[in-house]
Amino acid sequence: MIAEILCIGTELLMGQTLNTNAQFISRRLSALGISQYHQSVVGDNEERLEAAKVAGQALVLRPEAEAMVRERFRRLGRTMTENNLSQAMFTPDSTVLENPWGTAPGAIVPVGEGKAVIHLPGPPRELEPMFTEHVEPWLQTRSGRVLVSRYIRIFGMGEAEVDSRLSDLMEGSNPTLSPYCATGEVMLRATASAASEAEAQELLLPLMIEVRLRLGSVIYAVEEDDGGSLEKCAVAALGARGWTCATCESLTGGLIAATLVNVSGSSSVVRGGFVTYQTDTKTLLAGVPAEVIEEHNVVSAEVAMGMAQGTRERLGVDIAVSATGLAGPGGGTPERPVGTVFVGVSTAKGTYAIPLHLTGDRLRIRTLSVKHAINALRMEALKK
Ligand code: AMP
Ligand code: MG
Repeated sequence: MIAEILCIGTELLMGQTLNTNAQFISRRLSALGISQYHQSVVGDNEERLEAAKVAGQALVLRPEAEAMVRERFRRLGRTMTENNLSQAMFTPDSTVLENPWGTAPGAIVPVGEGKAVIHLPGPPRELEPMFTEHVEPWLQTRSGRVLVSRYIRIFGMGEAEVDSRLSDLMEGSNPTLSPYCATGEVMLRATASAASEAEAQELLLPLMIEVRLRLGSVIYAVEEDDGGSLEKCAVAALGARGWTCATCESLTGGLIAATLVNVSGSSSVVRGGFVTYQTDTKTLLAGVPAEVIEEHNVVSAEVAMGMAQGTRERLGVDIAVSATGLAGPGGGTPERPVGTVFVGVSTAKGTYAIPLHLTGDRLRIRTLSVKHAINALRMEALKK
């Protein structure tokens, strides 16, 4: 199988944008054993239309593509002009590829003689996951190679730190190691390609060992698909220990409990919890002494600890977690800026608080708080 990469964009010709897409696709193609003899870049002009000319067919509005574009605009809360529907025009026999990361769908366009043109949007954060999710499996079935992947899930280390520890490993072309979409945590995908599954596994093994050595305990799961999650691991760890848990939530407003309950089988582990949003409810529901709140501020380690301990005692669980903090955008002070969050953890062994300094918008700060609280449950359940 032979491939050629054609990149379109005047910014690439002028050197304003580094052509990282060509590098990314080339690596993935080599891993699949697909050869390339040429690569080209053309400016933004009529040559954009060449592919359609190659297919010798007119472009039509594809309803499934139109639905994708409309849905994307709806989710972004932006108004869509009819002009935007040009993004949903493909030849009638092409396969439309969903782009959950942007508005423009991609497409696999058959052009006769067993050949195809694959269209992808330019922004790397759209192109890369689309290639991984849609194009690679399609190419794989045609290349006769077997791809084996492992998804490495990381919590408690930022993307930059993971990158710097693994940068040399990320340069490999078989196996490849690359970041994968995940919110508030880091996920990597390691993929090896070989003639057989066993050979691919063998290629993957040394890489997996090296990644584990370099990252250590921040890796919370290594899975064969990307369906895992922190909450699943937490519920499993609690279940294995025979523990029950409860939550006491201020800025997360019930999201920690809701996230845990998303995991099927959580009913034997999750006992319940309190949403203590206004200050006095922390006293009323979780029994945090009003003086503690008065003395230390409602966003403090002491109050987080009081929330967790009170909840554990009142609900009779093995472990309780709490979260109190400032999700913003308003309400920050120099002493307690927006993003200041305390996660409280209480078990029979003791009670402590994890101070967090989070950044981002309200939703992100709340989501990250949830992840930290759930990770604390997991870590405690795993402690010897
Ligand atoms: P598009 O809307 O498909 O023209 O893509 C536009 C965005 O993707 C711009 O931010 C470009 O700089 C970026 N982009 C396009 N092609 C590439 C490429 N080959 N490598 C890296 N970035 C690119
Ligand atoms: Mg462009």
